[in-house]
Amino acid sequence: MSQSFNEPNRMNDLKKYEIVVQRLEERGVILEDIAQIALDLQIKYLPKLTFELCLEHVKKVVMKREVQHAVLTGLELDILAEKGLLSEPLSEMLLNDYGLYGIDEILALSIVNVYGSIGFTNFGYVDKLKPGIIGKLDKEGKEEGRCNTFLDDIVGAIAAAAASSIAHRFAV
Ligand code: MG
Repeated sequence: MSQSFNEPNRMNDLKKYEIVVQRLEERGVILEDIAQIALDLQIKYLPKLTFELCLEHVKKVVMKREVQHAVLTGLELDILAEKGLLSEPLSEMLLNDYGLYGIDEILALSIVNVYGSIGFTNFGYVDKLKPGIIGKLDKEGKEEGRCNTFLDDIVGAIAAAAASSIAHRFAV
């Protein structure tokens, strides 16, 4: 592909990056929350790892097109569910975070997919322990009229992907 063909796409990705960051903030998540989880995941393997470096890797993950698309899709469904704009039976399943629904995890896997098997392992770990902001989102999602069904998995997946990106970067 020629440079002139690539350039507009790159601009669109930057624009989408800004929208994704803003959308996450509107849902109560800042990239720093995600960086903290990535740091907690990796600090036992890399004792000198800094918060700033984790934040850099979180930003790198969110710059990826497939990640942006997953975030935009998932958050949109959470928001539509809250507004009562989805039809049944999907509406009830999302508003109640129905355990056997499973598409929230599948969508999130498209985020960690970029980073290979270590991404999947980290995601499973985070999904089980619900550290930091994820636990808060999980609790908040149980409140009446609130839907974080996709958001908690998306945040966990970005943290897992960033941790995996760091692990690959410092692999010996
Ligand atoms: Mg979920």
